[in-house]
Amino acid sequence: MKAEIIAVGTEILLGDIVNTNSQYVAKRLKDLGIFVYYQTVAGDNEERLYEAYKLAFKRADLVIAIGGLGPTKDDLTKETAFKLFNKKAVLDEGSFEKIKNYFSCTKRKITEGTKKQAYFPKDAVILKNNHGTAPGCAIEDKGKTMILLPGPPKEMVPMFEESVVPYLKKYSDCILVSKVLRIFGIGEGQIVEKIDDIIESQTNPTVASYAKENEATLRITAKAGSKEEADSLISLMEKKIRGRIGKYIYGEGDEPIENVLGRLLIEKKLKISAAESCTGGLLSAKIINYPGISESFMEGCVTYTNEAKMRRLGVRKETIEKYGAVSSQTAKEMAEGIAKGAETDIGVSTTGNAGPFGSEDKDVGLVYIGLYIRGKVEAKEFHFSGDRQKVRNRAVMEAIFWILNEIKQL
Ligand code: ATP
Ligand code: MG
Repeated sequence: MKAEIIAVGTEILLGDIVNTNSQYVAKRLKDLGIFVYYQTVAGDNEERLYEAYKLAFKRADLVIAIGGLGPTKDDLTKETAFKLFNKKAVLDEGSFEKIKNYFSCTKRKITEGTKKQAYFPKDAVILKNNHGTAPGCAIEDKGKTMILLPGPPKEMVPMFEESVVPYLKKYSDCILVSKVLRIFGIGEGQIVEKIDDIIESQTNPTVASYAKENEATLRITAKAGSKEEADSLISLMEKKIRGRIGKYIYGEGDEPIENVLGRLLIEKKLKISAAESCTGGLLSAKIINYPGISESFMEGCVTYTNEAKMRRLGVRKETIEKYGAVSSQTAKEMAEGIAKGAETDIGVSTTGNAGPFGSEDKDVGLVYIGLYIRGKVEAKEFHFSGDRQKVRNRAVMEAIFWILNEIKQL
């Protein structure tokens, strides 16, 4: 079944409010295996609304219009739909009773406009609104279905779950299940290159890549008659993908990288500390995002000046004089210094030029990350592009990804 979502409201059209309703409904229709090919936004204008409905029904069997069920004159969604379906609306006593009750509870007077919210064609399926006054409805005619829902998300969302989902079950003969793989250390372009043939040759499950800041994701989506069947299709595909780019996949679903790190650190009973220069505490903050990390994260130091690096971490004066503060030697001494001082298994450090000005003849974007793990210390050199914030965020991601890969092997 093909569906179209129409968000109704001039404020959405003009960008005054974000269209979260369409996003919500689109996501849920996908879960139900109903395809959304178009989304429309229409203002509160009867003529254009009518045109939008007509166009929507040319390309879809199910149209869900959201918003404009309210009591005021510019709420035209319902009236326009009845006109399109050529149906006369009559007062629905059940709905009117509920509205009256709602008003007497809140000690308000019923207006004519409010009464209009209880008018529906006789054969419409009324969708109850337990969180506001305006009920929604479903109208069916000649294989076409229109569902009307109120605009306030507080009303629309529960109504969708309580009334629309059960109503729509009869239209979906399959379900869609998705799994997201989170990837770092390889660009979206390179991912696609490496698994191009897999993506191209597949229709079920499908694989789609998305680039986010500093990471990429792959979404595997399977269509099947049951959740179990979909899961097994996904797991076969996941195996194939992991066979090609497994080392870059750090996590799944909504779980951010720091949670993956936090869980692993705690599971392996590892203690960690951080010494930061260019990231200025961002790295520690990110690691500490994970609840429960106090078992593992012992301390973090922002050692911005050369003097601080020497005094707090024991970085040698000669090292800084000879190689500079932005160097692999300094990064290593920082990592080792914080780990020894904090008595942790792991010490991580960052030092670099986040810009916008270069210094010490070191380019903007040049960052060294140091990693000390139980007596062994290494540093890696990176050249990041982008502004100050981007360079720093990227350094944080690289550091966490590196730690993750190292401790997996412990
Ligand atoms: P009301 O009875 O409040 O008038 P309604 O069904 O007529 O409800 P609208 O007037 O279109 O709905 O919108 C009411 C409110 O709902 C808006 O002011 C806005 O806060 C919210 N809203 C409407 N449409 C959307 C949308 N697409 N996404 C997010 N919020 C929305
Ligand atoms: Mg309104």
